[in-house]
Amino acid sequence: MDAHGPGETTEDGFPALLHRAYEHALDWRASVARRPVFPSVTPDQLRGVLGAGGLSEDGEDASETLDALARAGELGATGSAGPRYFGYVIGSSLPVAAAADWLVTAWDQNTTLYSCGPAVAVLEDICAEWLVDLLGLHGHTSVGFTTGTQMAAFTGLAAARHQLLAAAGWDVETDGLWQAPRIPVIVSEQRHASIDRALRFLGMGTSVHTLACDAEGAVELPALAAALESVEGPPIVCVQAGNINTGAVDPLAEVCERVHARDGWVHVDGAIGLWALASDQHRRQLEGAHLADSLTTDAHKWLNTPFDCGIVLVAHPAAHRAAVGVAADYLEASEQRDQINTVPDWSRRARSVPVYAALRTLGRSGVSRLVDRNVELARRMAARLAAEPGVEIVNDVVLNQVLVRFEAPHRARDALTKEVIRRVQQDGVCWLSGSHFAGRRVMRVSVCSWLTTPGDIDRSAEEIIRRFRDACS
Ligand SMILES: *Cc1c(COP(=O)(O)O)cnc(C)c1O
Repeated sequence: MDAHGPGETTEDGFPALLHRAYEHALDWRASVARRPVFPSVTPDQLRGVLGAGGLSEDGEDASETLDALARAGELGATGSAGPRYFGYVIGSSLPVAAAADWLVTAWDQNTTLYSCGPAVAVLEDICAEWLVDLLGLHGHTSVGFTTGTQMAAFTGLAAARHQLLAAAGWDVETDGLWQAPRIPVIVSEQRHASIDRALRFLGMGTSVHTLACDAEGAVELPALAAALESVEGPPIVCVQAGNINTGAVDPLAEVCERVHARDGWVHVDGAIGLWALASDQHRRQLEGAHLADSLTTDAHKWLNTPFDCGIVLVAHPAAHRAAVGVAADYLEASEQRDQINTVPDWSRRARSVPVYAALRTLGRSGVSRLVDRNVELARRMAARLAAEPGVEIVNDVVLNQVLVRFEAPHRARDALTKEVIRRVQQDGVCWLSGSHFAGRRVMRVSVCSWLTTPGDIDRSAEEIIRRFRDACS
């Protein structure tokens, strides 16, 4: 027998394994556009491939492990890396971003401190500068790279909590929220649920003041005026750039002006829409974004980097650092970027590297084109669908989100819309999901991928119309 058992990998095996993974990865990416966008697989089939028989005592051959993974992916991964996945808000990774992510794995850096790896710390600093510049924010803005917008919101709102309580003479980091003055929190009634979750995690609770929205899902300024009137003390106000359903952007300039007049803090959830700041065509919708106190976005959505990467941008670096920064005897702090002071994580992956790779390769005009093209494709989808009698486009397509509703004689519209979604999902040509908007069931189409072409849109629209007709007959 070999000196090494199957479970004891040696360095010698590394090239062969990387090549095998490379081949499997290429197979996947080369075939994803041809595969059904949603797989028809059962959990039992996946358990069979992945070995539901329990963990082996002595380990297994490494290349067989990779083959089993590849098989499981082929059977049970969705086509979100392909061109006709319109579900949730999920982009497909740019080739350079996915390739850079392989380097992240090869380098195997712990992205906690400069002293854990100068290359990534400096890269992250540069990437942060590029982002602040691209998005037109103030030069002093501090930036953290989180798992997603959920933790970016947590970070931004932690900075808000610090700042407003410090102004009230309260040290929340030391004394917690026990007997702290209450900070009023005002949120859009159509906020993403991750805002509530961040408030929960921060001990601020979800008993908040909500702002009514207009027909497109943007907050109404009279509602803000009334809420500001009704609260005592400077509030935290959460608005959004890119409504989860419609893509609508709240009136950021007016919100910031009014909230700042009350010494409050404005947090902008830009998970979907913040990238529109990079576009000459669409930037105007986000006028005033540079006035916000904290903003978030996802690189893994519209920038098309691999999962996972969210971004938090805070206009008050001292509050940002006070809220999440940390020191410990064994940590070698530096004068350089110590990433631990920007996010709630301790050890973490160098997830900023694919962001750097995407930005460097696309440049300003490339990011702008990515946004512009997807908005144009979303409008094309809306136009194709609206041409069919019985299909209603519910929203103004201002970004990459399209809401669709179906109507036929003697059919309940909610039930019919749900049925069309189900049929399209089963069919495999494209995939999208449903939602509720203004109390009505809608089909939600989100165009986020650099890969999507006008041909993909037309084919998907035809498919949706075909399934609508089937559902009616
Ligand atoms: C996706 C999304 C979030 C949550 O982001 P994650 O990256 O999944 O953590 C928050 N807000 C909006 C508007 C989103 O679209």
